[in-house]
Amino acid sequence: MHGHAKTSRSEQPMKQNWSPASWRAKPIQQQPEYPDAAHLAQVEETLAGYPPLVFAGEARELRRLFGEVSQGRAFLLQGGDCAESFAEFSATKIRDTFKVLLQMAIAMTFAAGCPVVKVGRMAGQFAKPRSAGSETVDGVTLPAYRGDIVNGIDFDAKSRVPDPQRLLQAYHQSTATLNLLRAFAQGGFADLHQVHQWNLDFIADAALSEKYSQLADRIDETLAFMRACGLENAPQLHETSFFTAHEALLLNYEQALTRQDSLTGEWYDCSAHMLWIGDRTRQPDGAHVEFLRGVGNPIGVKVGPTTDPEGLLRLIDLLNPDNDPGRLNLIARMGADRVEEHLPALIRAVQREGRQVLWSSDPMHGNTIKAGSYKTRAFESILREVRQFFAVHQAEGSHAGGIHIEMTGQNVTECIGGSRAVTADSLSDRYHTQCDPRMNADQSLELAFLIAETLKQ
Ligand code: PEP
Ligand code: MN
Repeated sequence: MHGHAKTSRSEQPMKQNWSPASWRAKPIQQQPEYPDAAHLAQVEETLAGYPPLVFAGEARELRRLFGEVSQGRAFLLQGGDCAESFAEFSATKIRDTFKVLLQMAIAMTFAAGCPVVKVGRMAGQFAKPRSAGSETVDGVTLPAYRGDIVNGIDFDAKSRVPDPQRLLQAYHQSTATLNLLRAFAQGGFADLHQVHQWNLDFIADAALSEKYSQLADRIDETLAFMRACGLENAPQLHETSFFTAHEALLLNYEQALTRQDSLTGEWYDCSAHMLWIGDRTRQPDGAHVEFLRGVGNPIGVKVGPTTDPEGLLRLIDLLNPDNDPGRLNLIARMGADRVEEHLPALIRAVQREGRQVLWSSDPMHGNTIKAGSYKTRAFESILREVRQFFAVHQAEGSHAGGIHIEMTGQNVTECIGGSRAVTADSLSDRYHTQCDPRMNADQSLELAFLIAETLKQ
């Protein structure tokens, strides 16, 4: 009897026929056409020799936290720019986005008594899928802008040529961003005793600012009480955990940062803690699903109105064959008017088949409209989509686990509405996004208070 015929393959069922490069044999959407393949290969090799940005143990910790969320014991807050850019890269911008995410998390944690898992669309969110591969202005047609990691946003032929060198710049910007985020999270800035200082100067709406101040006062009182009880040394009061995520769109970059964990032998995409697949690249037999099915990170899939229950179950089979409650984040992005029509059938299919997933709501991408030449979103639609998302989950007896939003700490005028009503006419005042319109600090905090109210019930 030779028992060694039984291989260890069954121990790693996710890995069958998978390698970090196996996506290359599959049909792929939304990719740039690099004019110089040799240059690209050389950059990939350089990147593959660079240190990873995150390490496997951190990705596993986020997976554990996602498990808590999907079982209703925590809430997921995911947010940041639609697209990071090389030009808009500064400590102030990183700090202000981080600060608003902290404020939002505090509103939800304290007002609703619910732990919040914080994930930034930061430190790697560069590549963009586009609805058209080219752009025509005044009779001139050029390749579409695909994010700073691919080509330049300026409308001239030279800028729009995909340049592999940009992968290296994106890597370096991501490492610097992540370094600062880690410092903010653990170096004292996120200490709960600073809760008053996080109130941004430009939370200009008086009622909103007052509401946050009152919350901060109550936290101060609680901290004073804890100090009196001798409990002021809990590390949770002095630092926070913060994770990063981006759309795994440019697989040349993702593969180069995919490394084998020395502890478990599993592969992890070490460009971020979490990666997601966009609504345009979630074909079950396509390259993006192939790549992400093999890495051990927690992963997300955007679920738009064209998703049908059978297709969704097929994706779940491929991406979460072990039915791990922390593995898969389904990010519903239906549009405010379509949540009630599309979401219940998807939730029912998942429940009927006993699949463990984390459901979150992206209330941004199904609500994009045009106002003159500007892409915008009505804050009212964003709120309505989130409310519908909660209502449908409640009706179906499943957990509304989190939100996924495009926001910034800057006082931009990109989404219409909110307490300090941005109007269609004022969009041009401070419209700075590289891609989709983001909520500003006021709008983000207002949304957080609304969610806190809902979570409390
Ligand atoms: C995005 O998150 O910026 C995005 C492009 O989303 P979606 O894939 O849902 O359209
Ligand atoms: Mn976007």
